[in-house]
Amino acid sequence: MKLVTYKPAGAGPQLGVVVDGYVVNMAEASGGKLPNDMRAFLEMGDAAMQTAQAAATVANAREFGAALDDVKLMAPIPNPSKVVAIGLNYMDHVRESGGSVPEIATMFAKYPSSIIGPGDAIRWNPDVTSKVDFEAELAVVIGKRARNVSEADAFDYIAGYMNCHDVSARDLQIERGDQWIMGKSLDTFCPLGPYLVTRDEIADPHNLRVRCLVNGEALQDSNTKELIYKIPYLIAYLSRGFTLLPGDVVTTGTPHGVGAFRTPPVFLKDGDVVTVEVEGLGQLTNPCVEEG
Ligand code: ZN
Repeated sequence: MKLVTYKPAGAGPQLGVVVDGYVVNMAEASGGKLPNDMRAFLEMGDAAMQTAQAAATVANAREFGAALDDVKLMAPIPNPSKVVAIGLNYMDHVRESGGSVPEIATMFAKYPSSIIGPGDAIRWNPDVTSKVDFEAELAVVIGKRARNVSEADAFDYIAGYMNCHDVSARDLQIERGDQWIMGKSLDTFCPLGPYLVTRDEIADPHNLRVRCLVNGEALQDSNTKELIYKIPYLIAYLSRGFTLLPGDVVTTGTPHGVGAFRTPPVFLKDGDVVTVEVEGLGQLTNPCVEEG
């Protein structure tokens, strides 16, 4: 299923599933069994997933649906308890950065307050940063409470996958005292979506093309098979340190081609349009606005 959080005109956020070009309202199509909130939905577990599957019919698309093009999509999960990000996790990106393979997966946080949805503007103040960079990433969405999970069991804890754009202020992240969380958590610096694609639809998350297009030009083009630390390892590693909750987002790192390591460097400008596209997950497109 392609699950979405969306906003019909004049109403609050709703939970939907995309069927045949329509968004089926899950609360209505399930007779009120499902909530309007993705995180609450994931907390309800497998039974809710099965209810959603049963409600995702073409008949319900006609009766309870709105055309996908007519609704405003939000981030599939606008309110996770955390967004955990992995750095330097593609061999090609390690090479371009001039570093070496990290002995332990490099981990940082993006605050949930940085999340925006498809079509929303990535905004920054030029007094705060002048080196805004793009990073296309595959994000994993946690489906159930995970603590001390083994690599063998890790996939059982995954609800699905999303595109993530790990927008990065390189001057804050690197040049001004290695402040990764500041550089990665500015407001609007975490576009997610457009869908949460459920795990069953992605046969092998370690073989997906990953692209980032800036104004239509592909500046990143790689594949998740280049991941150094694979998804089961990451879930096992992270869940030894802290509990992952339903709706938490683990974004797995970006491949080569980012702006900072290009010659000459490329940074995002006012008016640019960036699209992140992981195979099977749709397109996540956001305009850029520099505002003084
Ligand atoms: Zn990243």
